[in-house]
Amino acid sequence: MSITMFEVEALSAFSDNYIWLIKNKKTKQVAAVDPGDAEPVLQWLRQHSGWQLTNILITHHHHDHTGGINTLKQHTKAIVLAPDNPSIPSKDIILENNQLINIIGKKVQVIAVPGHTLDHIVYFFPKQLDDTTHWLFSGDTLFAGGCGRVFEGTMEQMYQSLQKINQLPAETTIYPAHEYTVSNLKFANTVEPTNYKAKKLLEYCIELRRKQQITLPTTLTLEQQTNPFLRCHLESIRQTASYHIKQELQSPIEIFKTIREWKNNF
Ligand SMILES: [Zn+2]
Repeated sequence: MSITMFEVEALSAFSDNYIWLIKNKKTKQVAAVDPGDAEPVLQWLRQHSGWQLTNILITHHHHDHTGGINTLKQHTKAIVLAPDNPSIPSKDIILENNQLINIIGKKVQVIAVPGHTLDHIVYFFPKQLDDTTHWLFSGDTLFAGGCGRVFEGTMEQMYQSLQKINQLPAETTIYPAHEYTVSNLKFANTVEPTNYKAKKLLEYCIELRRKQQITLPTTLTLEQQTNPFLRCHLESIRQTASYHIKQELQSPIEIFKTIREWKNNF
């Protein structure tokens, strides 16, 4: 019988952020992804004696992902890994596209995904040994049922970044940074009213939220089936998007741009 050595746990922060904890149960080392607030992490450490915060992984510079870094550095010996952006405080290691790193005994691949911000990176943990699957910490780039707003990059950049994620193994488990699933899937149902799977998933997630339960993580397979931003190549979405903008759209990038702007005002 194999015992899983690694585990992921969600900590809630602010109104809808998640700080993901990646735990090595053998060494009792833990890494925190995007601690926008230090307190939930410090509270977890107080409640779990013997555990050590050894790493902080940052996906991008927005304050709700970085606001807890300095306080956590004061209380722990955590090493901060982040993309190259001067507004991210206390960086120990600056990460680049395709860089391979080692975190609490796990290999991690850094993937640059500009669009939401120009500095945005995601962390891909390939399956190893007794892991059940691959993991992706997707920050504000890919959400369950949706994607991040395009603040700094171009629509084309964001589209290409989502394509990079789309090419990862389909069974990858995805850990986004926000609980946006219900509103995303309401939009997904509008863009693709004939998608039965997305309809059932919305009902299921509404029920989870009614019970104040988390709707995450998701999987790439499920996103490929339900997330319109990964389905811009489909004729059904081309038709709805064209009808919405009253213009015959052709390329998946035009369709992506149209539904991303539509969602901004949804
Ligand atoms: Zn953000």
